[in-house]
Amino acid sequence: MRILTSSTVRGSSASAKPADLFDKCREFRRPQELRDAGLYMYFEAFGDRSGCGPGEIRLGERRVLMFGSNDYLALNTHPKVVEAAQRALARYGTGCSGSRLLNGTLELHVEVEAKLAALVHKEAAIIFGTGFQANYAGISALAEKGEALICDHNLHASCVEGELRSPARTIRFRHNDMDHLERCLKDCAQEPAMIVSEGVFSMEGDLADIPGIVDLARRYHARVYIDEAHGIGVLGATAAGTAEHFGALDQVDVIMGTFSKSLAAVGGFLASEEAVINYLKHLARPFVFSASLPPASVAAVGASLDIMREEPERQSHVLRIAAFLRKELRLAGFDVLDGITPIVPVVIPNEVDLCRLCKSLLADGGIYVNPVLRPAASQNLLRISCTAAHSEAHVTRLVETLADLRRQLGIVTAASAAAD
Ligand code: PMP
Repeated sequence: MRILTSSTVRGSSASAKPADLFDKCREFRRPQELRDAGLYMYFEAFGDRSGCGPGEIRLGERRVLMFGSNDYLALNTHPKVVEAAQRALARYGTGCSGSRLLNGTLELHVEVEAKLAALVHKEAAIIFGTGFQANYAGISALAEKGEALICDHNLHASCVEGELRSPARTIRFRHNDMDHLERCLKDCAQEPAMIVSEGVFSMEGDLADIPGIVDLARRYHARVYIDEAHGIGVLGATAAGTAEHFGALDQVDVIMGTFSKSLAAVGGFLASEEAVINYLKHLARPFVFSASLPPASVAAVGASLDIMREEPERQSHVLRIAAFLRKELRLAGFDVLDGITPIVPVVIPNEVDLCRLCKSLLADGGIYVNPVLRPAASQNLLRISCTAAHSEAHVTRLVETLADLRRQLGIVTAASAAAD
């Protein structure tokens, strides 16, 4: 059974001209079939946080423990972040109604770009409307015809879209495989090249071999682009991300980050040398032809960056909680992927089991966790994400509830058979 990605959605044969372009939409019944089977898990509509404690969110009348958010430093509700956003709303209004290139640049954008560049030790930064846009725009604009993009096989969809849009030759290297990366670099020795990887891989939470990547890049004269969506705020002595964690920040040429995770807003950025950012500011089409990020979001990012520096205990707390969760899950017989980040993926091989577990966790246990189904990851995962708002008591409740539900639902894996 393949959840949501059934191979055919249209009934008519490929050669017959469809009566209406919308036919395929009307015939796309997979979500309804899943609802009917009690397995549909998407688009839960949460309420506000009134009356909710740390780590909780409202779902209808219930308070739900949220273990699916990427708000790693729990800054979404930090009073200083909220205040900064409110102040920006009052001072600048709700939006800029124009492209950064023309009427849409505020002093606030320029200030926050300088802070972002400083965080990742680069000369300059450029803010985009989303992290997706940053990758799509950056990768597609930087690599031209006659050049090469050498990309990890497991990249986020936004990087893949950037590759596809770029006229450069794209080569994929096997996930985090440095021998294969070297063979790819040899294969395009005559073309200017850029290696693209995530710092922390978003689904499995593993780290890129950044020391290996920068070493090969130096030897083969390639540039390095690292997506730090899940690294910033979480890894490194100043929370600058995976490259900083490996002491390689200066050897990475372009750092991408998003505001939708540790930085408690929405948006994204690229940071690099001045000439690269200047080039993107004038030539990256999703930047030039799209309105600028609203002031409240930009101000929230500025405040989040300040708090990241002032309250480093948030970073250490979330890492400690994630390590505790990994240990407790393993003791309870769950198959947990190795890692050190707040992303704690539990392998549940059968996708129907995974959906039933997630549904029951929410309905019976009052806990929300994201299911990740192939091909979004290489295996079916319960992708638990920790935040600085979680406590050991939250972790204990999650692990006990999961173990109970696994028994009740009769879900058996190699690791659970040993524990139960
Ligand atoms: N890169 C990675 C690795 C991500 O996980 C995400 C978000 N899931 C993005 C880019 C896109 O970021 P945003 O949500 O800001 O568009």
